[in-house]
Amino acid sequence: MSRTFPLEKIRNIGIIAHIDAGKTTATEMILHHTRRTYKVGSVDEGTAVMDWMEQERERGITITSAATTCHWREHCINIIDTPGHVDFTAEVERSLRVLDGGVVIFDGVAGVEAQSEAVWRQADKYGVARICFINKMDRIGADFHHTVTMINERLRIKALPIQLPLGSEKLFRGIIDLVENKIIAFPDPNPALIEESETLLAKHRQALIENLAELDEQIMLPYLSGQDIAASQIKAAIRRLTISNRIVPVLCGSALKDRGIQPLLDAIVDYLPSPLDSPPPSATNSKSGKEILCLASDDEPFSALAFKTVSDLFMGRLVYLRVYSGMVKAGAQVLNSTTGKKERLGKLYVMHADHREEVDHAETGSIVANLGLKMTSTGDTLCEPTRPVLFETIRFAEPVLSMAVEPKSKADQDKLDNALAKLAVEDPTFKIYHDKETGQTLVSGMGELHLEVLMERVFREYSVKVNAGKPQVAYKETITLPVESEGRFVRQSGGKGQYGHVWLRIEPGERGSGFEFRDQIRSGAIPKEFIPSVETGVKTVLQSGGLTGYPVIDVKVTLYDGSFHEVDSSDVAFRMAAFMAMRDGIDKAEPIILEPIMEVEITTPNQFLGDIIGDLNSRRAHIESIESRDESSAVRCLVPLAETFGFAGDLRSRSQGRASYTMHFHRYEQLPQDLAKQIAARMGRSR
Ligand code: GDP
Repeated sequence: MSRTFPLEKIRNIGIIAHIDAGKTTATEMILHHTRRTYKVGSVDEGTAVMDWMEQERERGITITSAATTCHWREHCINIIDTPGHVDFTAEVERSLRVLDGGVVIFDGVAGVEAQSEAVWRQADKYGVARICFINKMDRIGADFHHTVTMINERLRIKALPIQLPLGSEKLFRGIIDLVENKIIAFPDPNPALIEESETLLAKHRQALIENLAELDEQIMLPYLSGQDIAASQIKAAIRRLTISNRIVPVLCGSALKDRGIQPLLDAIVDYLPSPLDSPPPSATNSKSGKEILCLASDDEPFSALAFKTVSDLFMGRLVYLRVYSGMVKAGAQVLNSTTGKKERLGKLYVMHADHREEVDHAETGSIVANLGLKMTSTGDTLCEPTRPVLFETIRFAEPVLSMAVEPKSKADQDKLDNALAKLAVEDPTFKIYHDKETGQTLVSGMGELHLEVLMERVFREYSVKVNAGKPQVAYKETITLPVESEGRFVRQSGGKGQYGHVWLRIEPGERGSGFEFRDQIRSGAIPKEFIPSVETGVKTVLQSGGLTGYPVIDVKVTLYDGSFHEVDSSDVAFRMAAFMAMRDGIDKAEPIILEPIMEVEITTPNQFLGDIIGDLNSRRAHIESIESRDESSAVRCLVPLAETFGFAGDLRSRSQGRASYTMHFHRYEQLPQDLAKQIAARMGRSR
């Protein structure tokens, strides 16, 4: 098997942007210039190729990551589509995980918005190298330099413009290329503007070289000795600094007007890393737990990460893979080291936005879709059975909102169950739960919009009409005091009795730490074989809840003493003892209720600001900042999820439809006392 593209000519990238910044339009233009799309789609007309799901077209937002392969200057560019809406954070996280580089698109008018900041931090976590594209330079209010300053300040990274806009707003007439030292003028350039830009070019090119000289020795030495520095040297320095995440090069243009897209493609090839430039993913041997260095090379054994599962209506279940090492043939037997089971790979496809291409093998660095894997889910590692490598699993946030759903027609119950199960496999932040007491089906997710979108998919893709209940907030409980608690379960009833006895130390954990269990039994006070039963008993109480019946989170439980009986001790007895110790312990540890808090950013024309702030205050919002620019303001605030219902509609009517907002989960915080009392009373469980 020989490679289709040399490894250094592969770019696995994501296009990352705040909703409405122009990601879809830019992607369309990229596909147009790489000649994969025959007719340029338009988001406004709802024909964009990347937004391949019906309702995405209607809503104008990109929800699911579809991978698209295209070619530019003999390079293979795999674009892994990242969703713009942070309600779908899991999608963003898992696509970032498999990217080597990213193009971050900003709206030149709005600049850096809260959501871009959130996604930027996620990209930092995965060490994704980035270039920035300041879009919409043709719009009134577009300000290139202001956006660059915002990137520097808000995202705390050195943003180096490698282009400047030639004019802006209606007079946006071209791009000043500081690297190649040239002006790319669009039709009808204004002669005065061109003249002015010659001066700008000289000045800013000098500034770019000075900045690079400060950071890169290979530029510093010739710079200090007064030598001319060639465009190729500048490019090489920008590439080194971008790949090591020390700078982000900044470009500009207008996706809608098809301006600056070819230079953007050049920058993807010139500055973003190939799989060879990215550090190997952290990996262990799934049998021994020892670290393994998984090098990007076709000569290494095969390894890949399943980063996305899609139930395609026509094809069936597609699993998207990023190959990290080695090569694999379609139909080969591989080990799923996450589940420990062997599976046969079916067919392999390279996906383009408008068609798919069947291939007979997948090589290092490639992104392929697989048809045939039945037992592999998102986040699983596949590998050559002789080298059982396991990549770090992708951690997803727990859902914060739930609602009851039922089919409009009773006859559709099985179809609904089937549809929900399929969606849950695709999306790890979407969960289904059957309440045995009420017989209801509950679904939970990351926000109102998330659940709404999924219910629409149930209707469109599976033809089931759904009645949905009012969304309910997923409250949690935690404790505030460390306590020690004893549990004894002793039954003497003639024959064999029951004997379990434990001492637990129950302590509050840090917010977000979840649950931690430690076994500190020394000198055999409880035999090892019963310890897992103690942990099970503890977990049962945490899941069934303390004060109100909501799950208890962020606690550390240490089993430090107890006793056993040679004959009467059993798993059940220890489970019961732990259960009793935990029930009492939580009561004594001053439990409190926690509620999910959302981070919200609203952009509104100034005349509606007062009214919107008034509405926010009535929703228990904590306003963090208000930034005003020209005619509009951006409000950043934290709002309890319980107070956000109906917010979208209210905002629309208060601003005549001109304000926009983004919202995503921030953290859990204590619910105020008076509300906590109401909830405890409603749940009828105040013990
Ligand atoms: P996404 O949500 O980031 O995918 O953004 P879209 O590509 O859907 O664009 C959002 C809106 O901005 C659409 O109405 C586009 O037509 C518009 N748009 C995108 N790029 C530009 C641009 O460069 N200039 C102007 N004026 N509008 C643009």
